[in-house]
Amino acid sequence: MKEYKMYIGGEWTDAASGEILTTLNPSTEEPFARVPAAGPADADRAVRAARAAFPVWSGLPQAERNKVLFRIAALIRENAEEMARLEGLEHGTPYRDAFSVCMGAAEKFEWSANAACRVMGDQIPVPGETLSYLKREPCGVIGFIIPWNLPTIMTAVKLAPALAVGNTCVLKPSSINSAIGLHFAEVISKAEGLPAGAVNVITGPGGGVGAALASHPEVDMIGFTGSSETGKRILASAAPTVKKCVMELGGNNPVLIYEDADTDAAIAVLAWRQFNNSGQHCSGPGRYYVHEKVYDDFVEKFIAYAKTVTVGDPRDKGTTMGPLVSREHQGKVAGYIKSALDEGARLAFGGDVSEKGFFITPTVLADCRHDMTAARDEIFGPVAVIIKYGDADDLVSLANDSRYGLCAHVWTRDIARGLSLADKLQVGAVFVNCQMLANEQPWGTSVKESGIGKEGGLYGMLEFTDQKLVCVHYGA
Ligand code: NAD
Repeated sequence: MKEYKMYIGGEWTDAASGEILTTLNPSTEEPFARVPAAGPADADRAVRAARAAFPVWSGLPQAERNKVLFRIAALIRENAEEMARLEGLEHGTPYRDAFSVCMGAAEKFEWSANAACRVMGDQIPVPGETLSYLKREPCGVIGFIIPWNLPTIMTAVKLAPALAVGNTCVLKPSSINSAIGLHFAEVISKAEGLPAGAVNVITGPGGGVGAALASHPEVDMIGFTGSSETGKRILASAAPTVKKCVMELGGNNPVLIYEDADTDAAIAVLAWRQFNNSGQHCSGPGRYYVHEKVYDDFVEKFIAYAKTVTVGDPRDKGTTMGPLVSREHQGKVAGYIKSALDEGARLAFGGDVSEKGFFITPTVLADCRHDMTAARDEIFGPVAVIIKYGDADDLVSLANDSRYGLCAHVWTRDIARGLSLADKLQVGAVFVNCQMLANEQPWGTSVKESGIGKEGGLYGMLEFTDQKLVCVHYGA
């Protein structure tokens, strides 16, 4: 079992208390890594290191910072095989998927370096002999708290744009798979020109070290991805020092399948997303509303797709779906399957829950209803919850009837209908006949309990800057 240390101020270190956490391999349940269980004193040390590095890093010309970001990207590419192997061993992602995730992480740094050149100020016309302008400045020290799903890309999505515009960072990964974050730090720490303390990675339980980071007076901004419940606790921790918070929270994304939908194309996108990474995707389908005219066809095709998925150890070449991340999460997802069946759903396919390893086979629940627990909550697993609707149903009201508002999926050949739905759906993103999340596109929403602010693309990068107003009177 490998032992990891935290990365603070350019040094590798244990927790001040000496305590450790053990992470597991979700396929075998064997202990995988020992990582420091940091506490508030470690969070404080990391924040001070980031604060000390801030003038150095933010003071570099953009071109110099960009060179460092490109070096980081190159290091990720060089180490992608090992990083992908780790993503499989500690998170459960099949190797091929994990490898492309690592390539995506490298791209985030390249894209951010290029995009940072487009971050500029603005001149504001004002009366009198006065020059008024807005300059963009980095926020300062950013505390990032991330979930267990897809930790490599999650780390890159946070660090790359924040570093590109001159911030320094303290990142806390989930305690379920912290070794991935520490290995990421090991890889990028070799980038020539990255000052000690510009990136710090600390590991430990959310309620302890995470809360200490979120409430630290020297942290200027929090970037969080995780559940809405934890998000609310973090907002409360950040409130006394009025920190800027960008929050990417939970979702239960409605999928609207109209009678004129191309169901083959829909299945290729949606069923892939449902089972890829064991359905542990925030942007994936949450609940399907399928028109009665295409309902049977859709369910049959979903089952046919589910049969093509090979569940197994992520290290095996043939595996296309690995385990869920933890015993706790496996139990939660299994609980939703059981509750749906108890409430009258039909198990159309799958539903097997392993005793050894945290596996659940691809599952299709048909004949579900909008009021079932499994249709109301966020499952975050390989379980399709399919609801039949008819012409009399008010589909938009059903789709909007949720405490979440992350994204929605619409499948119809009528593009005018798709565009009209884009106006009516109360979500941060609407995908019509596709699902795409390119580097250029901002992600996230401030709708309902699904978050605050944007991440990704130029708009997401701007979240890591503050606009300073400068006003100069030059008249005699
Ligand atoms: P979680 O909320 O349980 O934990 C997220 C992080 O918060 C972890 O690092 C955890 O240690 C930390 N944490 C826990 N309590 C804390 C506290 N009191 N103070 C500070 N930090 C604390 O989420 P999870 O189970 O790891 O991840 C799954 C969730 O993430 C799902 O709800 C999913 O929708 C969400 N998610 C959202 C997006 C998005 O873009 N909106 C993307 C991915 C995942």
